[in-house]
Amino acid sequence: MDTDKDKDAERGGWRCGTCDVPLEPRKTLFRYLGHSVTHEVPCCPRCGRVFIPQELAEGKMEEVEMQLEDK
Ligand SMILES: [Zn+2]
Repeated sequence: MDTDKDKDAERGGWRCGTCDVPLEPRKTLFRYLGHSVTHEVPCCPRCGRVFIPQELAEGKMEEVEMQLEDK
């Protein structure tokens, strides 16, 4: 059955390519243009590798910064 797999994908369920375990969201501190931004990113609970979503790496940080200025 693919049901579990689909559910996994909805949660952004990625697996560590090295350990083959599901990644868990972990709050990670980024520094961006002089701001410190805490963002939850998938992280391997076994080897501790952090996976940066492509959208985050490629410009979504601008939105994060705008949200911060809004508050
Ligand atoms: Zn791992």
